[in-house]
Amino acid sequence: MPVGRPFISCMYRLVCVHCAAVYPADQIIYTCSRCGHLLAVEYPLDELSIDRSRWRRRPLSVWRYRELLPVTGEPVTLQEGGTPLYHLKRIGEELGLPHLYAKHEGMNPSGSFKDRGMTVGVSMAVELGMTQVACASTGNTSASLAQYAAKAGMPAVVLLPAGKVALGKIAQALMHGAKVISIRGNFDRALEMVHELCLSHGLYLLNSVNPYRLEGQKTIGFEVVDQLGQVPDRFVLPVGNAGNISAVHKGLNELLALGFIDRLPMMTGVQAAGSAPIVRAVREDLPAVIPELSPETIATAIRIGAPVNAEKALVAIRATGGTATTVTDAEILAMQRDLARKEGIGVEPASAASVAGIRRLVEDGQIDRNERIVCVVTGHLLKDPETVIAQCAPPCEIDADLSSLLSALSS
Ligand SMILES: *Cc1c(COP(=O)(O)O)cnc(C)c1O
Ligand SMILES: [Zn+2]
Repeated sequence: MPVGRPFISCMYRLVCVHCAAVYPADQIIYTCSRCGHLLAVEYPLDELSIDRSRWRRRPLSVWRYRELLPVTGEPVTLQEGGTPLYHLKRIGEELGLPHLYAKHEGMNPSGSFKDRGMTVGVSMAVELGMTQVACASTGNTSASLAQYAAKAGMPAVVLLPAGKVALGKIAQALMHGAKVISIRGNFDRALEMVHELCLSHGLYLLNSVNPYRLEGQKTIGFEVVDQLGQVPDRFVLPVGNAGNISAVHKGLNELLALGFIDRLPMMTGVQAAGSAPIVRAVREDLPAVIPELSPETIATAIRIGAPVNAEKALVAIRATGGTATTVTDAEILAMQRDLARKEGIGVEPASAASVAGIRRLVEDGQIDRNERIVCVVTGHLLKDPETVIAQCAPPCEIDADLSSLLSALSS
């Protein structure tokens, strides 16, 4: 499939985020062979000449920004990105925040932001000549990988923590034809196992240790800047493996280096109280996170004790004057209901954590009320129907006549 290089005018390389060792872009490598830390894609930004008016003529989507993405050929795409940015009018009024927004990533093809990463990651798998893809997942990564692997015609293997994945996500992974394996262990163990499998058996690893996946995810930040017409003061994300907060920060740093924006938002991470190693590191000013050995929360998408991108996330938060906070499961569920009922926005529990985190920070007096704040709500309501049903009264069943209907409506 010799498609040439229709999209890209630059060469990029992989650079270790810790020791700055450099690797060629076509090497199949996930961690630095010198120091073991993660790798990031680096573009020669001062040699790029990107015409922003060309971006504006393309539809709002991941691929609007193709000059800052690593894929050179035709991408494997399901038309991801271009998600709505909603003004949270009612919740904002309650909190005294006139400029509060939600970027609804649940509106992606598989219902989470993971699609932004997978369109790039699976495209790179094809470009690098890989023939099988794999991931560990709390659910959404597996759903997304299954869908993009199907589009690419490639077999996919996904490892899940048994009993800890929301129903909708398993349904997606199964229906799209991935080989789904549940391990009797948590996500962190599943990731170790799949990493070993990929290194020893030549599958392509598509967790957020994969540097290309995060390239796709950084476009959340690009879209927000385009949709708002300016840089928000604060960017709020739920944090699990911390790939997304790192990705958005990386992308906005690139726009800054290109002179497209003149400042960075305060990067703000929200974790569930039972699974909060990053918040602890920020609060206690630790140089690195201390893994949480038995993370627990109803927000299964962020039930992660050893975030692999923690190092980058701590830089993102500290370098931008941001912060991190925890929210309880009760606060998460209350905000899931508020988003659903006061704004018409249906999200899964982990997604509500970002807006719940803002409520907490407002109550703690840590937010200037005039800030322009964008909360990323990461996944769709239907991902986790069981948690929804458990919170709502069941439908009221009646005889099929009008008087029964009227009495049901008046009771
Ligand atoms: C993956 C995911 C997260 C966490 O993102 P990280 O990049 O792991 O920090 C949050 N919410 C949802 C719905 C997710 O699928
Ligand atoms: Zn290194």
